[in-house]
Amino acid sequence: MSATSSKYDDMYLRCSGVTSVYPDGSEALRDIGFSLRRGERVALIGPNGAGKSTLLRALVGVQEFDGDISVDGIALTPSTAGEIRSRVGLVFQNPDDQLFSPTVGQDVAFGPSALGVSKVEVQSRVADALAHVGLSHAAEMNPVHMSFGERRRAAIATVLSMQPHLLAMDEPASNLDPRHRRRLIDWLNAQSELTLLLASHDLDMVAETCDRVLLLSRSVLADGPARDILSDAALLEHHGLEPPLSMQQTHFR
Ligand code: ADP
Repeated sequence: MSATSSKYDDMYLRCSGVTSVYPDGSEALRDIGFSLRRGERVALIGPNGAGKSTLLRALVGVQEFDGDISVDGIALTPSTAGEIRSRVGLVFQNPDDQLFSPTVGQDVAFGPSALGVSKVEVQSRVADALAHVGLSHAAEMNPVHMSFGERRRAAIATVLSMQPHLLAMDEPASNLDPRHRRRLIDWLNAQSELTLLLASHDLDMVAETCDRVLLLSRSVLADGPARDILSDAALLEHHGLEPPLSMQQTHFR
């Protein structure tokens, strides 16, 4: 445990004054500040281009930023990025950014092997991670021959095998069929020990899985209980979002 961690006992992630500008000059994040407690389940919502993916990439040190990010009391710098990535697992929006080995099993083994986990433990983590996403049968498959939904679940397994404390997911339900979306929601709800940061347009999924919502549009525009923000139709609509169906009165034709 680092010498500074006692200050952060229940604040697992802290971002302060985080700004990120792409090389072409576009400012994706401006002065972002928020903290997550251990075990919190927080959604990051906002219209396309709001900066959700950029923020998630910044948290794992693959996006340049100014400002301060710390995880578990460790300040994120180029030299601590590896340590941070053993705590924060990011499931990218596009599974093909996460799968690069000839077999799914090798992809899922890659992260823990790189962390120096023993071979036996790696094998057990791979089996567990694949079972969690319903891909136990697919360890020897080449991701190229799998459907998009299967590749997405394989990409999730590559992160689960790292056993992260904080699971960050970028639009994890997009392009999943209803059955696999439901399985993902049920699985997330069963992981009570995880700290979750979920970037999603699927506000019904957010309503089912998260307690708190951050509304992002380059800056954090709202931060509060999910039930308050998701029922604020005017706020959501102003930012190009729709309240989840579960919070609307449903009219059938
Ligand atoms: P979101 O995930 O909320 O859709 P992004 O983080 O992808 O938002 O994008 C935030 C802003 O950064 C957008 O204006 C987008 O056009 C811009 N952006 C994203 N990636 C790049 C890039 N590689 N180069 C330049 N601008 C980018």
